[in-house]
Amino acid sequence: MDVQELSEVLELESPRPRKRKRRPRTSTPEGGYVCHSCGEEIIVPIDLSQGSEQEYVEDCPVCCSPNVITVEIEPDGQFRVDARPE
Ligand SMILES: [Zn+2]
Repeated sequence: MDVQELSEVLELESPRPRKRKRRPRTSTPEGGYVCHSCGEEIIVPIDLSQGSEQEYVEDCPVCCSPNVITVEIEPDGQFRVDARPE
C-alpha cells in the first residue's frame, strides 16, 4: 500500500463533514384576519403544531388594537382564522 492508497483509505474511514442541509423551504401556512378596529386584513403565520383550536391575543400591526385571534384547524389541514375584539 503506497501513501496515496493509505490516504484514500483514511479519507474513506474518517467521518465526512456533515454538509449543512439547506432548510427546505416549507411554506408556512398563513391565515388572514380582519382587524376589528381598523378593518385591515392582517396575515398571520399559522402554527399547525399548536393544536386544532388556538386562541391568542395579537396587537394589530396597523392600529395596535388587540384582537383575539382564534384559529381552527380541520383534520384535513384547512384552517379558519377569526378575530374579535378583546
Ligand atoms: Zn387594526
